[in-house]
Amino acid sequence: SDVERLYRSLTPTSHEYFLEGSRYLPGADSRSTLFHLPYPLVLSEGHGCRVSDVDGNELLDFTGNHTSLVLGYGHPRVREAVRDQLDRGTCFPGATALGVRMAKLLCDRIPSVERVRFTNSGTEAVMYAVRAARAFTGRPGVAKVEGGYHGSWDDVMVSTRPAGQAGDRVRPAAVPASPGLTPGALGTTVVLPFNEAEAAARLIEQYGEQLAAVVVEPVLGSAGMIPADRDYLVMLRELTARLGIVLVFDEVVSFRIAHGGAQEHFAVSPDLTCLGKLIGGGFPLGAFGGRGDIMALFDPSGGGPRMPHPGSYNANPVSLAGGLATLEVLTGEAIGGLNARGARLRNRMRAAFAEAGLPAQVTGLGSLFAIHPVAHPVRAYRDTIGADAGCRHRIFLGLFTEGVLIDPRGVGCVSTAAGEAEVDRFTGALRTVLEGLAH
Ligand code: PLP
Repeated sequence: SDVERLYRSLTPTSHEYFLEGSRYLPGADSRSTLFHLPYPLVLSEGHGCRVSDVDGNELLDFTGNHTSLVLGYGHPRVREAVRDQLDRGTCFPGATALGVRMAKLLCDRIPSVERVRFTNSGTEAVMYAVRAARAFTGRPGVAKVEGGYHGSWDDVMVSTRPAGQAGDRVRPAAVPASPGLTPGALGTTVVLPFNEAEAAARLIEQYGEQLAAVVVEPVLGSAGMIPADRDYLVMLRELTARLGIVLVFDEVVSFRIAHGGAQEHFAVSPDLTCLGKLIGGGFPLGAFGGRGDIMALFDPSGGGPRMPHPGSYNANPVSLAGGLATLEVLTGEAIGGLNARGARLRNRMRAAFAEAGLPAQVTGLGSLFAIHPVAHPVRAYRDTIGADAGCRHRIFLGLFTEGVLIDPRGVGCVSTAAGEAEVDRFTGALRTVLEGLAH
């Protein structure tokens, strides 16, 4: 297509790296989600809300590295904190003051989190939360929402995007999202319909005695930035409390919605919370925490380790320094401004699609957004499956040629580095792209 020819003409060096990289790395990279046709970009620098590729194209960035750079690239406070920590030491065989400060900050911000532990990624955070729930309840099962993404370990790599769907809308069947999963993963994972409170409740009641945990993103992230109905989360809270199931909120993406995370926004408190991405300020960091009686499983001070939680880089001080600086800048007021620009962006995007006469839904909450080229409302992952993938791809490439970067899957976010002018430049670029598509 024309847009693909234009993309190729603007990115010859990315293409060269792709060809050379493919000789050493499967697909020339180490993150499968970044791949797109005809070949992915190779990026070299980021400053504020701008990122540059190896061909010197400068792009307005609305990915934030999959929502992890909530302050944009290289915020001065983050750079200063990290440089200072580099000079002191990058890791130690002991606890650090930074770890205590960060833990206090998270416990203060999120009332449901009484104790917290740090990991290197969101994947590990969810893995430990679910294992803790299993140890606490003595039950094997975990229920997750269709389309919910909780990282790349076996038990939750079930029915995630783009695995597709099986079974009925109100009674989804588990679909492996990767070859090579253990049979146990499919055997113990129950898939719940999202935003279908009655149907999900029936399934939880049915499997209740086998379920250790219900894990849910308050806003489905990688499935397409789809907010939960508050009633759905309230149902999960009440039912899991009644049946002795540990309710886990995966706030790896949604934490940015409010000062205390999406759980503050929805006023629903889980038993355990998982964090990642933005809490590391651009460095690898995850965290899981919650009820004191559950987190006590990890406390070795009472007489020998109970639940092991090793990890050479757990609570890495460089990541903690970057994360602390980030969360100190990300005040409630900063989040208010961010969310206002997110709402402006979504509204202007919807107007652009309407003007172009193209059927599409723009979902999201706070500073999160996603574009779904479908005519019907999007309330769950299933609603996104029939979306026009060709249209989404042309929008992605078209935006690149107009100087705007989003995730190839159509999801993205606003960082504090992007003001109204940048938001308006984005929607202006989208308008140009959609005009081209409509003709
Ligand atoms: N949970 C959610 C909601 C995520 O979006 C992700 C990553 O995209 C993860 C967990 C896994 O985090 P990580 O990529 O740090 O392993």
